[in-house]
Amino acid sequence: MPSFHQPGFIERFAEKLHLIPNLHEELGAELPRLTEPGALTDYPPPEKWDDWVEYEAKRWPRREPKHYMIVPTICFNCEAGCGLLSYIEKETLQVRKFEGNPYHPGSRGRNCAKGPATINQINDTDRILYPMKREGGRGEGRWARVTWDSVLDDIAGRIRKALQEKRNNEVVYHVGRPGHEGYMDRILQSWGVDGHNSHTNICSSGARFGYALWQTYDRPSPDHANASFILLISAHLEAGHYFNPHAQRIIEGMMNGAKLAVMDTRLSNTASMADYWMPTYPGSEAAVLLAMAKIIITEGMYNEAYLREWVNWRQYLAHARPNDEATFDNFILALKDEYKDFTPEFAEKESGLPAQTIIEVARQIGRAGTRFSTHNWRSAGSGNLGGWAVARCLHFLNVLTGSVGTVGGTSPSAWNKFKPNVPNKAPAQKFWNELHFPNEYPLAHYEMSFLLPHFLKEGRGKLDVYFTRVFNPVWTYPDGFSWIEALSDESKVGLHIALTPTWSETAYFADYVLPMGHAGERHDLVSYETHSGLWIGFRQPVLREAKRRMGQSVQFTYEANPGEVWEEDEFWIELSWRIDPDGSLGIKKHFISPYRPDEKIAIDEYYRYIFEHTAGLPEKAAQHGLTPLEYMRKFGAFEVEETSYNKHLRAISTADLQGAQTDASTGLITKNGKALGVMVNGKACEGFPTPSRKQEFFSQTMIDWGWPEYKIPTYLKSHIHHENIDRSKGEFPLIPTFRLPTLIHSRSGNAKWLYEISNRNPIWMHTSDAARLGVTTGDLLRVNTDIGYFVDRVWVTEGIKPGVVACSHHLGRWRRPQDAPGNRWATSLVEIKQVSSEQSSVSSDTQAQSTIHGPRSTIHDPRSTIHGHQWRMRTLDGIRPFKSKDADSSRIFWSDGGVHQNITFPVHPDPISGMHCWHQKVRIEKAHAEDRYGDVMVDTAKSFAIYQEWLKLTRPAPGPNGLRRPLWFNRPVRPVEERFYLNS
Ligand code: SF4
Repeated sequence: MPSFHQPGFIERFAEKLHLIPNLHEELGAELPRLTEPGALTDYPPPEKWDDWVEYEAKRWPRREPKHYMIVPTICFNCEAGCGLLSYIEKETLQVRKFEGNPYHPGSRGRNCAKGPATINQINDTDRILYPMKREGGRGEGRWARVTWDSVLDDIAGRIRKALQEKRNNEVVYHVGRPGHEGYMDRILQSWGVDGHNSHTNICSSGARFGYALWQTYDRPSPDHANASFILLISAHLEAGHYFNPHAQRIIEGMMNGAKLAVMDTRLSNTASMADYWMPTYPGSEAAVLLAMAKIIITEGMYNEAYLREWVNWRQYLAHARPNDEATFDNFILALKDEYKDFTPEFAEKESGLPAQTIIEVARQIGRAGTRFSTHNWRSAGSGNLGGWAVARCLHFLNVLTGSVGTVGGTSPSAWNKFKPNVPNKAPAQKFWNELHFPNEYPLAHYEMSFLLPHFLKEGRGKLDVYFTRVFNPVWTYPDGFSWIEALSDESKVGLHIALTPTWSETAYFADYVLPMGHAGERHDLVSYETHSGLWIGFRQPVLREAKRRMGQSVQFTYEANPGEVWEEDEFWIELSWRIDPDGSLGIKKHFISPYRPDEKIAIDEYYRYIFEHTAGLPEKAAQHGLTPLEYMRKFGAFEVEETSYNKHLRAISTADLQGAQTDASTGLITKNGKALGVMVNGKACEGFPTPSRKQEFFSQTMIDWGWPEYKIPTYLKSHIHHENIDRSKGEFPLIPTFRLPTLIHSRSGNAKWLYEISNRNPIWMHTSDAARLGVTTGDLLRVNTDIGYFVDRVWVTEGIKPGVVACSHHLGRWRRPQDAPGNRWATSLVEIKQVSSEQSSVSSDTQAQSTIHGPRSTIHDPRSTIHGHQWRMRTLDGIRPFKSKDADSSRIFWSDGGVHQNITFPVHPDPISGMHCWHQKVRIEKAHAEDRYGDVMVDTAKSFAIYQEWLKLTRPAPGPNGLRRPLWFNRPVRPVEERFYLNS
């Protein structure tokens, strides 16, 4: 595909006459990729970005010119990292709007609704503008404004004391919205703490684990634009990531003839555009994928060359068929035998999909061959016990068709994600924090973050300094009342610092609320696997950059942002400097300027260093007469590689091969006891970073760590499998893992345009189920979970599979009367009370449901019901118009902000991947007489009991050689190797 728009004669002529902007001669064709050719590609040309004139829309029909400075930045409203252009009115230095940046290789000038809505977040009249400190008890809602200086001194002193007393594991940073490549790794490792915690195990860990078993790389990077057949598990576009960059490439692929299949229980927007909507019973996806695999194998549609060369089938045969000769033909025979039971009819029984559809799609995949792109994000991977097997079985189809890393296929994520070269990198920490990686979950793909309140309750440790960064577990996580209990207890959480751009249900229980910037108010380096290419994007504080261009000096970003809104990058530098003022802790040396000896690093210098060490960027910048940093400040993005295919074929250098050995039967090349690559067709290739350096169909690791039944891709029955649902009791599986496409996690609440579009989350129910229950759209339902219930309205629709219900998880925001007025576009006013078990209306019938039906364990003991902490939330008032500087706040027409369902879910930790299994078995009944819309009731003692029941499903460390975790597994912010051993 051409990267650059080639102007035609008429276009060149019009440019010469200045009838249209000259995007070609003045800038040269070497600029990054422009958007595709077309009459509407009228982005302002970069040479006019310092003074761009538009007529003021609000003055129409008068023609009142406004002069703008255009400064690029990166969207912060999902992980895709699309480019934005901010339009800053020069006269007032106000940001007026955000539009797409055509020079961004991932988004190419296009955005979803959430990108332009950044302007709402910046102008939100309820936003936090100054650092705030709690007064009174935690959660009381009383706050006082403080200075950044006092904040830094207080927190730094506390961290310094913890480090001096070797309480390193009590300093923890917990990230919600990530998006700054490697920055926090560097900070935490400079402090010497194993303090990184993330939200990933309630998000994408399930799917990631399935991919990691195959190839270590844990995310897919589909090349949709060049595919012949596209298979999506769930509406991943809307459910979270790569919405806009993937959507535009899927459409391109379809316009070039590709077919799209979407496996989703719900008729999502994406499914509605598909050639095949495959509404599977939730949790049955792996059975369907294996049935497709069987068809591809038995009908001989597999890619023999790829399988022969790049799959560890010899290891498999040696283990599973030791008496068979190690030939490829025997491997194919073994595959046929392994998957003989996964017939289309079996898959139909499990999923409800017609066997004929499964056969037809499988054949389309087989025919697509190396041009088969796939994606799996949350949904099935994050909903089910064993959800990780869905990604594992999906990738099996890519392996069978040889579409791994090919044009139109699916690459490993890391091939399309940039790793920066940072200054003064700190060494790995010498601690292992068992609050994050406990021994019960040795294979957990990320930190067991959602179990933290239960670990604290059990006395496994405590937190002295706890940072939450754009992170709202009270609302986003399951079991939010257990979070409220933990965060309210100062003996468990000593100092809670919420770094957040907006008030949140979690910030209400902090000691410090520190305002951090939105996109356009902060620095971050981002790079994501949006397509087959490699790019970096530079998020920058646009008003600071505007001032720089105007010759005004700014020391800290909060001097240019609204109020004293800061950014984490500078905050961490200043904090680190104060933790170690004399350098005795060995921290300070990691914050020295690479350009000015002994001086503190400035934020410009940090990014200058990275950009000067980014392949190709200095040369590109020089072509424009700019330094690398100036280039990134000017254009906001840089394409490091236009395409990134087949990187496993990269040759190992002759120097590296010196002293290496090659195994004659497997081709594995090792050096000093470590795998280096693999010999394929006489060539020493890098391969994949697995023990075999190939795609691991067979996993010795699963055997070594106590799960031999899952040594090859297989199907696990979910905790909400048909067999565990008693229809006679009104039970349904509930899908809570989708969201409406215009919503952000916690941060749509201050984006008025987004809430105007989406503001309620009813229960989706099929017409046949509604008729059976005698309900119609708008009726109130009580949805009973294992720990309580929520009351919501029903939406009767044909857009969901019969027998399954669903509810979007990005609505139901709340604030209490004592809380600062925040997010009033989105929050209902609620009353939260702890009530005794006698007062509770959690029925004994509901209590008897605290049951886990897993594939290996059935625990059902109604006698174990514990009456303990029962919480009730009731809506006092819905969303109302309010007076503010924004006239739109008086025009709010919606009153319904939805229902907070996640807080009624117990934790369901998958015993292998560690992923929270979101789907719920619920019992649905008509609302009781006393029920009101939005009511929530939860018993946290029961949630603790359910945590303990799921804990019993684990098979704890140690593994081989006393290991806590396989050495070849990645781990976020990896400690020194010796800490991987239990008794080290
Ligand atoms: S897809 Fe994500 S990064 Fe792109 S504009 Fe939408 S929210 Fe922003």
